Amino acid sequence: MAKVYNNIILGGGASGLMLAANLDKKKETLIIEHNSKLGAKVLVSGGGRCNYTNRRVNSSNYLAKKDFINSILKSFSNRYIDNYFKRRGLDSVTKNSHELFCKGGSKDLLDILLKETRDTEVKLNCKILSVDKSKDIFFVKTSCGLYRAKNLVVATGGLSFTKLGASDIGYKIAKSFGHTIKTPSAALVGFTLQPSESFFKELSGISLDVVVKVENRELIGSLLFAHRGVTGPVILNSSLYWQKGHLEIDFLPDINIETLLNSGKSISNLLPIPKRATKAFLDKLNLKDKSAKLLTKSDISRLKELKKYKFAPAGTFGYSKAEVTKGGIDVDEIEALTLESKKVKNLYFLGEVLDVTGELGGYNFTFAFASALCCAKELN
Ligand SMILES: Cc1cc2nc3c(=O)[nH]c(=O)nc-3n(C[C@H](O)[C@H](O)[C@H](O)COP(=O)(O)OP(=O)(O)OC[C@H]3O[C@@H](n4cnc5c(N)ncnc54)[C@H](O)[C@@H]3O)c2cc1C
Repeated sequence: MAKVYNNIILGGGASGLMLAANLDKKKETLIIEHNSKLGAKVLVSGGGRCNYTNRRVNSSNYLAKKDFINSILKSFSNRYIDNYFKRRGLDSVTKNSHELFCKGGSKDLLDILLKETRDTEVKLNCKILSVDKSKDIFFVKTSCGLYRAKNLVVATGGLSFTKLGASDIGYKIAKSFGHTIKTPSAALVGFTLQPSESFFKELSGISLDVVVKVENRELIGSLLFAHRGVTGPVILNSSLYWQKGHLEIDFLPDINIETLLNSGKSISNLLPIPKRATKAFLDKLNLKDKSAKLLTKSDISRLKELKKYKFAPAGTFGYSKAEVTKGGIDVDEIEALTLESKKVKNLYFLGEVLDVTGELGGYNFTFAFASALCCAKELN
């Protein structure tokens, strides 16, 4: 008779590995992965040092249904995840006061997951094609044959970085079982420019600390002018909330324009940004670089535009540069405590394939790991 696994995990990335690591080893589990190695994204993440969690995590760091994310983070917190890796020998380093990275590189964290899953059967170079269910058994059709399981876990991630293995198979499987997919799009990604901002290109390489207002959120951080548009942490986070239309950027967050006006110094000497940027902004505002004392009312109101600059991106740099995919399987159709589908018994979804997206700072791995741990508790 054909073999029936207890659990088949589709996708050997962050959430699939964390699940396999925490499953009862007496129950037969199979991981199916089409890359030639497990954990490809983990390895390149965080610039090679994997920002695996954050000292401060709450639902406001996510674009997600509050109750759903809160329930998962309550079951398995950032502290639990940090301790999980530390207990297994991971050395961490903290950046920006609360982001936790691997001190020796992402490989250290991946090695822990690989060690914990060494007894789990893995099929590499094996592409998942489709899934059916009949009489309580899931049938997984792949490029290397047909596999059967009692429990099926979809941990195939989002659409970002196809070169690291991303595909739309998770959405296809979910749809085939009647799930709703919230339209996916690239997130944690830079913005491209409309012709009105083509002057930004001249500023390529300059980084400024700014405040961005987007969809009722105020985000603080650095913006980097790039060849194709704008990027940098504050822009990547803005892309999570941006829905078309404009953002408002304060390029001079620490400056009150009124306090500059009595100075005899020129504008370019007063503004605390690189001269190249001041010149480009003044050209855009059609302002001469003159003594602040000589500014007319109209000059002052134009200068103040730099504190609420309306910027409408043309689009984003797309999936090839995006760290994550926002949108995905509607979490109203998923049990938060177990990650089981409310539509199909013994079918589970973890990580980025769900409609939960975190900001920059380790929030996406936190969710991938925490959702996997909730599911492991259910399956054991
Ligand atoms: C460059 C980069 C850097 C990042 N850095 C960070 C960071 O520092 N901190 C952070 O929190 N987040 C980071 N992220 C986001 C983070 O990597 C993801 O959110 C996380 O990996 C999601 O985990 P997952 O298990 O849901 O999906 P993944 O880790 O993407 O795993 C999905 C797996 O499924 C496999 N798969 C897909 N389709 C098929 C198929 N048809 N057949 C077989 N296998 C398939 C894939 O190959 C992959 O191995 C980064 C992302 C990128 C692209």
